[in-house]
Amino acid sequence: MSKLTGVQPTKKYLMINGEKVETDQYGSLYSPYSGEEIAQIAMANKEQTEMAINAAYESRHLMAKMPAYKRAEVLEKVVFLLTEKADEAAEIITRESSKPIMFSKAEVARTIETYKFSAEEAKRIHGETIPFDAASGGVGRIGYTLREPIGVIGAITPFNFPMNLVAHKVGPAIAAGNTIVLKPASQTPLSALFIAELFEEAGLPPGVLNVVTGPGSVVGEEIVRNDRVSMVTFTGSPEVGIGIRNRAGLKKTTLELGSNSALIIDKDTEIDQIIDRCIMGAFSNQGQVCISLQRIYAHEDVYEEFTEKFTQAAKQLKVGDPLEPDTYISSLISKGEADRVLGWIEETKSSADIATGGCLRNGVLEPTIITNAEHDLKVSCQEAFAPIVVVNKFRSMEEAVQQVNNSRFGLQAGIYTNNVKHAMYASQELHVGGVIINDVPTYRVDQMPYGGVKESGTGREGIKYAVEEMTEMKLIVWNNN
Ligand code: NDP
Repeated sequence: MSKLTGVQPTKKYLMINGEKVETDQYGSLYSPYSGEEIAQIAMANKEQTEMAINAAYESRHLMAKMPAYKRAEVLEKVVFLLTEKADEAAEIITRESSKPIMFSKAEVARTIETYKFSAEEAKRIHGETIPFDAASGGVGRIGYTLREPIGVIGAITPFNFPMNLVAHKVGPAIAAGNTIVLKPASQTPLSALFIAELFEEAGLPPGVLNVVTGPGSVVGEEIVRNDRVSMVTFTGSPEVGIGIRNRAGLKKTTLELGSNSALIIDKDTEIDQIIDRCIMGAFSNQGQVCISLQRIYAHEDVYEEFTEKFTQAAKQLKVGDPLEPDTYISSLISKGEADRVLGWIEETKSSADIATGGCLRNGVLEPTIITNAEHDLKVSCQEAFAPIVVVNKFRSMEEAVQQVNNSRFGLQAGIYTNNVKHAMYASQELHVGGVIINDVPTYRVDQMPYGGVKESGTGREGIKYAVEEMTEMKLIVWNNN
């Protein structure tokens, strides 16, 4: 039985202008693993979302005038508070998302770093001087650029990294002197509300960070529609992201969307050394990671050895209760998701081979490895967002790169090789936002530029890069003639 039993559901309110705000309707939040009710969540309507946007709008001058050292101080205080409460934070993530606790702890550690980077970045936002006299019409003039806060940022976040992906929006927004209306995923509002309380404790003025829980079709739609919001930063599925882009008009938009990330394993690779990384890449957070390893292309010389060792390792993973310290795989975010994925696995049965997994064990999908899967099967060409990986063989590097590029998506790709020419070729030819040489595509640290091409989105996160997106460039020209 789950350790969650006995936890009393608590009532959670909207956070608007520093106040806890009641709503007419509340929705029950259930643990995806145990099915237990863990909280009652306020469901905002359009008017309450407008209230939050207005609070952020009214606070924008105050925030724009707050000096960099003060913005950094608030972020540093959040780093301190979150470090103190790291275990509590990890348990919240696990309770609402069924992320195994070992990965929730890792997420909290990364969230702390993300806010640390944000505090540091707040102190180095600057423009550049322009050599005006390089143009004949510019002689006698001096000019430079400034980076100014953009105003109200609407942040819409997904369920799979409910604390760190909130940090990737809230951290740089505050570093840059903006105000925020945050709409967390309906399945994972607790992490966002927890962080908002830490910001309050850290001394962030009321109205700067507002959290509005409720359905995407109501709260999200209003954030995207409302003229007082200057920018929408969205992480989530391509379907919702593309809809947002279509409705956002002239608002700035950053879209961090999905992928079916791939890895190339070249013939000279020492297979024993890469198995652990491939297991992590394919199965951490039950594959619900935007850069989860979903497609592996192994050279024909190493294909058999890799498939066998990888399969053996996957069979060892502990499946079950996310609060157990050694659980590696737990429930998908909903039963509907599990049913969808089982349907995709069923589709492979007539043409591909299932090396391991493919079934539910006590409601949890086993880590699943599929070999010889054609490109047009859903497990290959769509985003699985589940603990599923397909392994196919290739003969030449050109063929491997072509297979990786044969995708609607382009977030990150990885290549294991000791052949420098192959590494260079792949780095130049892979059509993705990031190429990871000698590691899985799932590699990410939080200061690196991160984002995709094609249907994986547009814009970059990673604090410095997000700050660029969240500020407007202003030019100042002095005429000394
Ligand atoms: P969804 O797109 O379903 O939801 C993301 C957010 O959008 C949620 O807060 C959701 O609210 C909200 N939303 C839903 N409908 C609308 C709407 N009409 N207007 C505005 N907002 C709306 O994604 P998931 O939460 O299921 O997350 C999984 C997806 O996120 C995957 O595709 C994954 O690849 C991607 N992702 C991308 C990352 C990246 O950095 N590239 C990182 C992590 C995930 P509600 O929950 O209420 O429906």
